[in-house]
Amino acid sequence: MLDPAVTGNPSQLVQLDADKPNGEVRRDSGGPRQPLFGLDAEALAAVMGELGEPSWRRTQLCEAIYRQRVADISEITTLSKSLRRKLAEAGWEVGRPQIAQVFKSVDGTERYLVECRGAGALDAETVETVWMPEGDEGELGDGTDSASPKTLGAPGLDSEAWETSNPSRAERSRATICVSSQVGCAVNCQFCLTAKLGLQRNLSVGEIAGQVIAVLDRQNVEVGRDRVNLVFMGMGEPFLNYDNFVGAVRLLVREVGLSPQRMTVSTSGIVPGIERFAQEPVEFRPKLAISLNAPNDEIRQQLMPINRKWNIESVVDAVRRLKLRPRERVTFEYVLLGGVTDQLVHANEVARLVRRTGLAAKVNLIAWNPGPGIAYSMPQPGAVEAFRATLIGEGIPTYLRRPRGRDIYAACGQLKRTVDG
Ligand code: SAH
Ligand code: SF4
Repeated sequence: MLDPAVTGNPSQLVQLDADKPNGEVRRDSGGPRQPLFGLDAEALAAVMGELGEPSWRRTQLCEAIYRQRVADISEITTLSKSLRRKLAEAGWEVGRPQIAQVFKSVDGTERYLVECRGAGALDAETVETVWMPEGDEGELGDGTDSASPKTLGAPGLDSEAWETSNPSRAERSRATICVSSQVGCAVNCQFCLTAKLGLQRNLSVGEIAGQVIAVLDRQNVEVGRDRVNLVFMGMGEPFLNYDNFVGAVRLLVREVGLSPQRMTVSTSGIVPGIERFAQEPVEFRPKLAISLNAPNDEIRQQLMPINRKWNIESVVDAVRRLKLRPRERVTFEYVLLGGVTDQLVHANEVARLVRRTGLAAKVNLIAWNPGPGIAYSMPQPGAVEAFRATLIGEGIPTYLRRPRGRDIYAACGQLKRTVDG
């Protein structure tokens, strides 16, 4: 149960050193520096070209920035000292987003305020990113391979109840990073805390991918050895910042070495975005989750005004264009709001709706996470279980997302870039 007072508990807030690592020079008197971070191999080749260097040096830059995760040009030891100096003198910096604050939950989840500077902006702005050492089980049953993973920093706080309510132990234990795509959000879903911010701005490619690198670095994740899942389910609507979202995915796949099959993007149902997404080459396409959240258009448009523009049918039609991988399923996310969307009649309606789509699909149930100023209530545990049992009884693969980090406002829909809630 959420207690806003807990969020302000200083023991949960881990203050980080304000100094930049290795004395990184953020900007000089000539104004803001240009970040290398976020540029793809081609753009890095062009940077080298401008300095009169051969384009193959892009490989050294990519390796240093995206694989070794250097935070400062001075650390790129594969380049000569004079070339490093030349890069800095030309106004470049690594410019990777940095973790400015950490909130730790009793369940091992960490919520970060990641410092970004918009292009040319002088003031740092923060965006939220979440690390769940064992994930939240949202990825179960959607086609992710289920070989026994290495658990990353798991705190060992599993409850029996969750173990018995969800499938297999071997399928759990997978670290997940929840990534933001915008500062705030314009979609205005009535149950979501992020909506309260409105849309402040889109994040750039570097700011989206940089959240991932900053967390991989903090958690000492070795890509290729350790399993990690990404969910684009933080602040914002990824399909309303489509190009930068896709640019970040490409960078994370190509240069960082992460698999798109371990990435899931969630959308509130932006039809043109889903249509573009269906055209993406499969080697750069994450899995898709649709925030359904209601059993029919009538209820959905009350909760999600976007439904007036794109109703359930138009969203489903767009999703049908996706060429699913073998065993891949589309996820329908469904937030259970006490008394509003959690009744058995709703469960039966959802089962019929999902079956009618004809899609290889599964449902992820999320018990609503409360937030200040939002007048809904959490569903009763009995209602959640009955809802789940009904869907399963109707033959729909259904999973319950574990609430992670509620005590630090890290759970779904609780991200609002706040220290005290
Ligand atoms: N904007 C995208 C992705 C971010 S929201 C989207 O809406 O899909 C990620 C998920 O959190 C969505 O499924 C959304 O319905 C859910 N969510 C939002 N607020 C919530 C809350 N207060 N409690 C539980 N889930 C919430
Ligand atoms: Fe935006 Fe998603 Fe929140 Fe809706 S649920 S307001 S789309 S972040």
